[in-house]
Amino acid sequence: MAKKVERKYVSASKGEVVTKDSKSRASGLRIGAVILWLLAIACEVLAILFLNGTFFVPEQGIEILSLTLQPMTVLIIAIVADLIFVIIGSQLWKKANHINPISKKNKLKFFLWNQMGLIVAVIAFMPLIIFLLKDKNLDAKTRKIVSVVAAIALIIAGATSIDWSPVSAEELSAAQATYGDDNVFWTSFGKSYHIDEECHTLNRSKTIYYGTIDEAFEANRHDPCDFCVPQD
Ligand SMILES: [Zn+2]
Repeated sequence: MAKKVERKYVSASKGEVVTKDSKSRASGLRIGAVILWLLAIACEVLAILFLNGTFFVPEQGIEILSLTLQPMTVLIIAIVADLIFVIIGSQLWKKANHINPISKKNKLKFFLWNQMGLIVAVIAFMPLIIFLLKDKNLDAKTRKIVSVVAAIALIIAGATSIDWSPVSAEELSAAQATYGDDNVFWTSFGKSYHIDEECHTLNRSKTIYYGTIDEAFEANRHDPCDFCVPQD
């Protein structure tokens, strides 16, 4: 028999008194996501205004806070800020959907709602990439570098915004009905939640997180373990 590793149990809840219900917490996260996404699109608009000449940056650069920024630097800063806002917004959006999921009865709505981050990522980068490809004002080297940066940003934003394992309201309420306030267990990297802390798949994990089924879903652990959770 393999020697059992020494274990540390970590509660998923921060010990705070939960005063807000999951619905209003999710609403707060969704509002945050939308604000960040709008900021992302504002960065893109700024970059496009610069490309079409509305926002003028001379060849020798502009001075911002006693720093001289070249046109390429201005564009790259806008793209990076755009990317950061999209990524953080999408994480808030995904978290909200795991706390307060929507029904999967309407498959199209379920898909669009859960993958809103991906849609925003495309909106926040695609028009800029098209403008860059059509641009005639930038020198060839700058245009090439900025286009590559924008394309990479689109890929990163898209990949991090997709909800690879969306939760449905049906899935959460079924799990809530089964486990109520009982603790379930999960690990840093495992995808599943476990009902048996002695489950053999947990044997090698040093840190075990525990919490209610709601907390497991919030932590993106909504896949029942194949070994310790009874399958229907
Ligand atoms: Zn298990």
